[in-house]
Amino acid sequence: MQLDVVIVGGGLVGASLALALGQAAGQRHKIMLVDAFPLTGRDNFSPSFSSKTTALSHSSRVIYEKLGIWELLQTHSAPIAAIHVSEKGRWGATRLIASEHGLTEFGHVAANEAVGQALLSTLHKQQKVILESPSQVIRIQRQTTGYMVTVKPANASSPVVDIPAKLVVIADGGRSPLLEQLGIDLLTRDYHQHALVANLTVSRPHQHIAYERFTGAGAMALLPLPDFAGRPQYSLVWTIPEEQVDRVLALPDEEFLAELQHQVGFRCGKFLAVGPRTNYPLSLSQATEQVRPGLVILGNAAHTLHPVAGQGYNLSLRDAMTLAELVNHVTTSEELLSDELVRHYLQRQQEDQRRVIKASDGLIKLFGARTAMLRQGRQFGLIALNLLSPAKQLFAEMAMGVAGVAADWQS
Ligand SMILES: Cc1cc2nc3c(=O)[nH]c(=O)nc-3n(C[C@H](O)[C@H](O)[C@H](O)COP(=O)(O)OP(=O)(O)OC[C@H]3O[C@@H](n4cnc5c(N)ncnc54)[C@H](O)[C@@H]3O)c2cc1C
Repeated sequence: MQLDVVIVGGGLVGASLALALGQAAGQRHKIMLVDAFPLTGRDNFSPSFSSKTTALSHSSRVIYEKLGIWELLQTHSAPIAAIHVSEKGRWGATRLIASEHGLTEFGHVAANEAVGQALLSTLHKQQKVILESPSQVIRIQRQTTGYMVTVKPANASSPVVDIPAKLVVIADGGRSPLLEQLGIDLLTRDYHQHALVANLTVSRPHQHIAYERFTGAGAMALLPLPDFAGRPQYSLVWTIPEEQVDRVLALPDEEFLAELQHQVGFRCGKFLAVGPRTNYPLSLSQATEQVRPGLVILGNAAHTLHPVAGQGYNLSLRDAMTLAELVNHVTTSEELLSDELVRHYLQRQQEDQRRVIKASDGLIKLFGARTAMLRQGRQFGLIALNLLSPAKQLFAEMAMGVAGVAADWQS
């Protein structure tokens, strides 16, 4: 079987790319999506669609509308009408209000599980992409006319197969052994922090306000969710210094809620209950090469960002849609292997990537700094952000993810 495009990894990024390619290029090109977990959209599916939630920017919503999955997601997501940024123990807070930017909302918060189900059920309905799962890609080798992808099915009685493809997209998440095989390094800077993730019910309606809060115990984001059992609900992402993570994870629920209340205050009401807590070690990592002729690296495999600014997936979705737009305009399968295609992709996305990575990392550095001078600057930073409209506009644009959206996916 000769394929035109093989996508390795059917997580949030790979599945979105597959859907976009299936819509147009699926008529012309043979496309396969491979994942180590079942791509059924039901049980036991990829950890990419775990209990986490994702803040989807305005641009991601526009993309999902075009992919035809927004209707499926709408009832499982909550809009963000305002963002409140503050620092514990410091005067000054920044309020970003969507209506001041001519929008009804900055974005939406959706459960990753709901996004996964919407993507996979639509892929099944579309029937334009071959879904190979549960199977692992164990090797990718360059040939004279494309790449050879070696696929090992989870079912031990099924044989390992070599599949030739013109274009291979690696979207297999962070710490990809396939990149290592191809001699592509990751530049990694450990933040020495973990993201603790949990859902919380609160006593007061959230009025669709998201909170970003910077405290001595780490930065946190509280994102509004649809009500749970009649109670207003938030998704918490709390970045905790690595030396404190075990202690915070081990706290009994009541003590955890009391500590959180102490850090956040009562701006979102009283925290009533917390769901299961999970944690992720955090680093900024970037692949030293994102493209080679016939090869593109996407998603966390290309760049993994600090989650507190909620930009990693939004950026990767824009990357994926730019690639889909370029592939959808290719008419011969030989062009898929061309240097021009991948160079064009990188030229289009480089600036968006540079800007978002710098902004997310800068925010963490600014609010994580401990020296007196930086603390002063940081306080000024929050106030300045509130008063100086260009800075605020930039922050709002980042929240909305409006820059760098591929032309075919803009509203
Ligand atoms: C706590 C937290 C909160 C976040 N919040 C936000 C947010 O609010 N907004 C935002 O934009 N981003 C957010 N992010 C970032 C977002 O989660 C990532 O950008 C996104 O998950 C990346 O998806 P991916 O598909 O690249 O990788 P993954 O989710 O890691 O998926 C990779 C897939 O590849 C498969 N796979 C791996 N190896 C193989 C192989 N050899 N063969 C076949 N399949 C393979 C896996 O099974 C998996 O399905 C957050 C991240 C964290 C940690």
